[in-house]
Amino acid sequence: MRQKIVAGNWKCNTTLQEGVELAKAVDAIVASEGADDVVVVLGTPFTHITKVVESVNTDRIGVAAQNCAAEAKGAFTGEVSAEMVKSTGAEYVILGHSERREYYGETSEILNKKVALALENGLTPIYCCGEALDIREAGTHNEYVVNQLEETVFQLSAEDFKKIVIAYEPIWAIGTGVTASSDQAQDMHANIRAAITAKFGEEVAEETSILYGGSCKASNANELFANKDVDGGLIGGASLKAEDFIGIINGF
Ligand code: PEP
Repeated sequence: MRQKIVAGNWKCNTTLQEGVELAKAVDAIVASEGADDVVVVLGTPFTHITKVVESVNTDRIGVAAQNCAAEAKGAFTGEVSAEMVKSTGAEYVILGHSERREYYGETSEILNKKVALALENGLTPIYCCGEALDIREAGTHNEYVVNQLEETVFQLSAEDFKKIVIAYEPIWAIGTGVTASSDQAQDMHANIRAAITAKFGEEVAEETSILYGGSCKASNANELFANKDVDGGLIGGASLKAEDFIGIINGF
């Protein structure tokens, strides 16, 4: 059985104090409301990770960094390495988010280095892929997304690929309020799973969690998560309020 996962991506939001309050609020509701079969992940700013790890029941809630350096260590001012992330108590790292690709020039080559370092340091990459609106409108989104994976995580061994989580995030749906329809999400997730099957075999494909991200909220999570190839969500805006985030977790 594939793992169901709902991961929040707080992006560049919350002070440390606000982040700890948010984490505690999520922790309290998760403890009381169950949803025991769903792994909950909080993707916090680097500065918050240690305190957030201390503030939640880590048997129930995992913590993610939103990035890590493409180098192991050294003279890279301002960078935070995968080893440093791991030493904070985080278990996951979000990599390949479209905002990092677009605003920080993260290419497949850079992302391959980051994924390798994350895996070497025992972090689970939540690896994002997804197409822009013009690609969707041109009807080439299926090939585009598979190509993003072929250039990056499909280069891994099957053993390593099994350790990652994929997040499909159509760029036109991120932070726009426009969600992919349930059918659009299912079609792309099935396309990704078929590509994983072709590359690594059915067993690996059946075990890989593929999350949907892009204006997912409590009101549409249920319909999205009901699809057989949608194993949860990567949630931006709606992860910033505990009640909204829990509403999504309860979408399963
Ligand atoms: C994201 O940026 O990962 C995301 C899915 O954002 P939002 O939920 O706000 O669309």
